[in-house]
Amino acid sequence: MPHSFATVQSINDLRSAVRDARQNGRTIGCVPTMGALHDGHLSLVEAARRETDFVVVTIFVNPTQFGPSEDLAKYPRPLEADLAKCRAAGVDLVFNPEVETVYPTANATFVEVPGLSEVLEGAHRPGHFRGVTTIVLKLFNMVLPDVAFFGQKDYQQQLLIRHLVADLNVPVRIRTCPTVREPDGLAMSSRNAYLSTEGRQTALALSQALKIAEQSLCDDGQSPAEARARMIEHLTATPGLTLDYATIADSHSLEDLDEATSEMVALIAARVGTTRLIDNQPIGLSS
Ligand code: AMP
Repeated sequence: MPHSFATVQSINDLRSAVRDARQNGRTIGCVPTMGALHDGHLSLVEAARRETDFVVVTIFVNPTQFGPSEDLAKYPRPLEADLAKCRAAGVDLVFNPEVETVYPTANATFVEVPGLSEVLEGAHRPGHFRGVTTIVLKLFNMVLPDVAFFGQKDYQQQLLIRHLVADLNVPVRIRTCPTVREPDGLAMSSRNAYLSTEGRQTALALSQALKIAEQSLCDDGQSPAEARARMIEHLTATPGLTLDYATIADSHSLEDLDEATSEMVALIAARVGTTRLIDNQPIGLSS
């Protein structure tokens, strides 16, 4: 049977397509994105196709998660190319609503996960995670998926969404999928499109620093403090890069670690020119 593919912009059309699929006994998978799709996004689609029967990709550049001086206006929106990628990847339904559909009134109600949303990315992008958790809950209420797929690339984000879902008893299962990288190690990101040829080379320092941290902790038996210092040394020695943070944290609480544990994550945010990049690497010590 040829695979059917549809795009919808209204919440009514979305709900009726999802209701039909569910009535046919299909489980619903959802992949929330902001578009400018790359192989990282498509790996989430593949996981959704493996694990659910009806795959909904949402494409929505969510204004409430951008700060006033951030890149909302210039964020890439190659809709036709995105739809072609979704169709080729076997997506069943794309939901790409207008801003007015998602935020018909000045949205006064927000959900926030306290604590965890205020550190690392949250400290550098005030209000960002409030926008993220709000749009994700709104999308869950619109799509009503059984399973939703997120990337480990946005490590803190998937952690916050797990808290949101647990705290508010949202009936959706969260799956986190591994970070997809370019052959040279750069984590795929829609924002990589902003990088110049030179900036693209500079950006490699992030994945290199994560490797250094992993080697320091796992091969050299160094402490998180030493691993952190080696990452920072590498990043600050890279011309053209401005470091926001680089740390070794507990993979659940995101608190900085002094002692090595079996559940660590190295996290970095840095700017290359005006492009802000993040990357991370979970690190488990085998005992
Ligand atoms: P975005 O469009 O940037 O909001 O990302 C949509 C989803 O794709 C989020 O769950 C991201 O974590 C995920 N994602 C982005 N980049 C990657 C990547 N390189 N590998 C895996 N997942 C990714």
